[in-house]
This record gives sequence, structure tokens and C-alpha cells, in this order.
Amino acid sequence: MTSQSAPNIELSLIAPTYNEIENIVPLVERVHKALSQYSYELVIVDDNSPDGTSELAKSLSAEYPLKVIVRTSERGLASAVVAGFREAKGQVLGVIDADLQHPPEVIPALLEAIRAGADVAIGSRYISGGGIEGWSTKRRVISGGAKAFTHILLPSARKIQDPLSGLFLFKREVVDGVVLAPTGYKILLEVLVKGNASHISEVPYTFKERERGKSNLTIREELNFLKHLGRLGWIEGDIKRFIKFCTVGASGAGVNLGLLAFFVEVVGLYETLAVVISYEISILNNFIWNELWTFRDKRASAGGSVLSRAIKFNLVSLGGFSINLAVFALLFNLFGVFYIISEAVAILSAMLWNFFANLKWTWRARHEEALANQSLQEK
Ligand code: UDP
Ligand code: MG
Repeated sequence: MTSQSAPNIELSLIAPTYNEIENIVPLVERVHKALSQYSYELVIVDDNSPDGTSELAKSLSAEYPLKVIVRTSERGLASAVVAGFREAKGQVLGVIDADLQHPPEVIPALLEAIRAGADVAIGSRYISGGGIEGWSTKRRVISGGAKAFTHILLPSARKIQDPLSGLFLFKREVVDGVVLAPTGYKILLEVLVKGNASHISEVPYTFKERERGKSNLTIREELNFLKHLGRLGWIEGDIKRFIKFCTVGASGAGVNLGLLAFFVEVVGLYETLAVVISYEISILNNFIWNELWTFRDKRASAGGSVLSRAIKFNLVSLGGFSINLAVFALLFNLFGVFYIISEAVAILSAMLWNFFANLKWTWRARHEEALANQSLQEK
């Protein structure tokens, strides 16, 4: 981000608009009333709305601390917000919808959370005191699914109850030197994944029904959100790690079969003994590659010695082997599924178990252990 902050402006609030002419006056008035005790600027970023939104907004800018940006070359919620950040002068940056579904009256509580030390303060529908007005069950289920998906793909969103919130503030430093290039309209995810925030706080609010104007969000924006999730998950999540883990597993299978042939054909061992020895060596092969490659970044923070990790890795593999047998028996013997399909599902189950057990145990960071113990003691 390129803009300079001005010391006398504490908060820049960005509101993207498209055909919001009916909401502009109440938005500007309610924001101003809510923030009367604070120094702030409201930055309206309008995508050249045909209904005259930007002209009306500009007519208010003599009376209120209001800046209006009209974009003609680009459209879309995500890039509009980033354009607003670029022009913003405040120490704290924030985003709010212009249609008043985000009640401006909650902003002071968000700003106070920042003053109290939060790097990011999120308006949250999903913590106690928060809520959603007038959503159908279908919309709630879709929203819940999107949230669950986000939690699976993005480790940094897991501790947040409302990671898809569109109402949030953050300290300018969080995105210092960071290039924000959101693919979808969930800008908060971009800030959480790419920015440097350590303390995040959620403040409850109720998402209101739209009273004036109509929704502009298209199915295309929802698809962009999924693309965005995939991209961010690729950057920070465990997708890449899982692919590495599977690659190592495949190399282990090669080592296993090669050695088996060698021990039987060249050395002349009994087949059963050769199977056991080559199996164990292939596990050591996998351990070494995972230690040096898949979990390389976790080595420094993981507890214990290499030997203790090697033992844990062996135990996890033993668990994976048992899961493989159990799932195969269940599918093949009990449900009569074709044996190749049964074993394919069994292998996948064992791989997933191996991956997550190693991630959460073998290469688990020591401070994660300390945190887990602490929360156990608090219960
Ligand atoms: N918006 C925008 N450009 C777009 C779509 C939406 O600036 O292409 C603005 C819109 O004016 C509103 C906010 O983004 O201030 C949220 O959009 P909307 O209310 O249409 O979404 P919904 O609440 O229905 O999900
Ligand atoms: Mg809306």
C-alpha cells in the first residue's frame, strides 16, 4: 500500500457503493453521529453508478469529512475497497457496506477494541450478542458451509468465529508493505492471510435486513470468493504440504517394492521377513523426506529430538496401517464393495490420518502444546 497516513485522522472508513443513492444520506449521517467523538474520514468508492450515487455523495462532502472516489476503468467490490485503502489517510482502516446492513453504531466499539490493543477488530455475527436478521434457513446453511470451508482451508481463520465478515477495522501497520490483491469480495480474508496481525478481536453486531435499494452481489462474485479461498489456501494453508506428503508417500511405495525384490531375489531372504524389513525402511525413507521437506518449516518449533519424531512417525504409520485394514474390512467384508475401490478408500483414509496426525503431533509446535495445556487447565 502506498498512501501516507495523516496523524490527525484516527480512522478511515471505506464504503464501496454501486447504485446506493437511497442509502447515501442516512449512511453519511449515521456514521457521522456514531463517530462524533473521533477524528475520522469516510471514503466512498463508487463504481460510476448510473443512479447518481457519487454526485449526491459529493454534494455532502462540504458538510462532512467525506471523500468520494469514482472509478470508471474498473468494477467490483474487492478492487474498490483496495482503491479506498490506497487513498485513505487514517491510522486505522476500516470497511463497511453502504447499504446500512452493517449498523454504523457498532464502529465505536470496534475502534475501542483497536485502541485496547487489537490489530484487527471484526464485527461478528457469530459470537454471543451478534446475529442475523431475516435470513432464510437456506442462506444460513450456505453461509455456515462457506465458513466451515474457510476454516478447513485457512489455518489463520480457524480461531475466528466470523472470518467472512464484511465489517472490520485494522491498524494500518498490519498491511505495511503488503500487496493486497483480493480475487473475491471477502477482503478480510486477504488482510488476515497476507497481513501481520497477531491480536484479533471480535465485537458482536446484528446484520440487518436491507431497507432501501437492492443487492448487487452476483453469483460471479461468489465464484470469485471460492477462487480466492483456493488461492489463499495455497499460499498459507496445508494444501501444498499435503501434496508434498503424498509425493513422499509415493516415493516410499517405490522404495518398499524395490527393496522387497532386492531382499528376496538378491539376498535370498524369506518373503515375509523381506516384507517387514523393506516396509520399515520405506517408513524411515518417508520420515527423512518429510523431516527435510514436507515439515521443514516446522522442525525448529517442534518439540523433542529427531529420534523422538522418528518414533512418533512410526507410531502414526502403524495407526495408518490399522486404519487401512479396518476401512478395507468394513467396506469389502461388511458392505461388499469391490476390493479395488475398498482399498482405494482405505488408502485415502490412512493418508489423511497420517497427514493430520503427523501435522498435529509429530511436528507440532511446542507453543501449540503450551496453549492446549493452558486451555485444558482453564476448563
Ligand atoms: N457493491 C459495490 N460494487 C459491486 C457490488 C456491491 O460497491 O459490484 C457494494 C454495495 O453497494 C454495498 C456493498 O458493496 O455497499 C455490499 O453489497 P450488497 O449489499 O449488494 O451485497 P449483499 O449485502 O446483498 O451481500
Ligand atoms: Mg448488502
